[in-house]
Amino acid sequence: MDCIFCKIVSGEIPAKLLKETDHSISFLDAFPLAKGHVLVIPKNHHQKIQDLNENENSDLFSLVHTMISKVDSISGSTLLAVHNGKDAGQEVSHVHVHLVPRSADDSAGAIHSMFDGTLKLSDSEIEEMYNKLKI
Ligand code: 5GP
Ligand code: ZN
Repeated sequence: MDCIFCKIVSGEIPAKLLKETDHSISFLDAFPLAKGHVLVIPKNHHQKIQDLNENENSDLFSLVHTMISKVDSISGSTLLAVHNGKDAGQEVSHVHVHLVPRSADDSAGAIHSMFDGTLKLSDSEIEEMYNKLKI
């Protein structure tokens, strides 16, 4: 499979590896959006979070928890992001969590600035989503 992140896991492509656990690794993003931009990925190739098994999932987010203190010490605020699917902005189809140090004067905004803010749902649409998503 021609996957950049699988090649980083196997050592075929070099990366600035920060920490390795049983099922996950963490390394510096090669095209950082901010100083200290870190990625955390599962070792096995899966496209989406829901494709991870329970062990892989808890190991991945445990490593995110470990790394967040380090990354957050850079500027005191951190953006955590997962593009879960192509239309959500996922360019590398191997699960990855972004940890991006943020600052008040960087050019990025809040999640709401990604959308035009014009969406208005009717009561029935809210009810429909509620019924679809509740477990
Ligand atoms: P996405 O847009 O899929 O959420 O994020 C993919 C991330 O992988 C981007 O932030 C990009 O900079 C990073 N990236 C792409 N190729 C490489 C690479 O070869 N090495 C490393 N360390 N990061 C990469
Ligand atoms: Zn992969």
